[in-house]
Amino acid sequence: GLDAALFAAWAEEIAAAVRADRDRLTALDSAIGDADHGANLDRGFTAVAEALAGGRPDTPGALLSLVGNTLIRKVGGASGPLYGMAFREAGKALGDAPEVSLADLDAALAAGLAGIRRLGSAAEGDKTMVDALAPALRALTQAVQEGLAPAEAVGAAAEAALAGAQATIPMQARKGRASYLGPRSLGHEDPGAASTALIVRALHAAVS
Ligand code: ADP
Ligand code: MG
Ligand code: MG
Repeated sequence: GLDAALFAAWAEEIAAAVRADRDRLTALDSAIGDADHGANLDRGFTAVAEALAGGRPDTPGALLSLVGNTLIRKVGGASGPLYGMAFREAGKALGDAPEVSLADLDAALAAGLAGIRRLGSAAEGDKTMVDALAPALRALTQAVQEGLAPAEAVGAAAEAALAGAQATIPMQARKGRASYLGPRSLGHEDPGAASTALIVRALHAAVS
């Protein structure tokens, strides 16, 4: 099963990945937004890593709730509430079990995506984080149904998230700040889709 230590490792992997790619995320956001996405997420996940260093919750559900609450407190803008909601909803879905299965994780991430959709009302094709997360979850669900081991299943999800992020390049933004640019948002990767790809890649690193 997947335990709290694995979910803590995921959060720490995200913090490291966001730190390493902070400037790239900010450059993406400077093209079609307000150039703060890298700094926003770095601030948020640094606070998550600090909170975990101070004491780790002992269930996967509590751990993801801590991540979500910290992001809501520390990250402003669009991405803080959206990612915060996603981790909180995922945490709630996992309940208080000490260990969860890959299928539980898949269902929890689906609850997270539903939370993002409810709060931001973005559909696929609107050039947002949803364009990376939705295909990642389709890949994960399929891999779970095929009975793949966690590392293979989450690897497939990470590949799908990356492809989904790259597929935002030719899209015109219909949600968030980038939508104010209209057709000038064409030709740029969406920063939130790029950070979602990092987050799923970090999960792959944590389960491998
Ligand atoms: P802000 O735009 O407030 O500065 P960030 O730069 O941190 O916030 O995050 C921008 C990202 O948030 C976008 O690239 C997009 O992926 C995501 N986003 C914005 N609005 C929405 C929405 N309504 N639904 C889903 N994702 C959204
Ligand atoms: Mg921004
Ligand atoms: Mg901003």
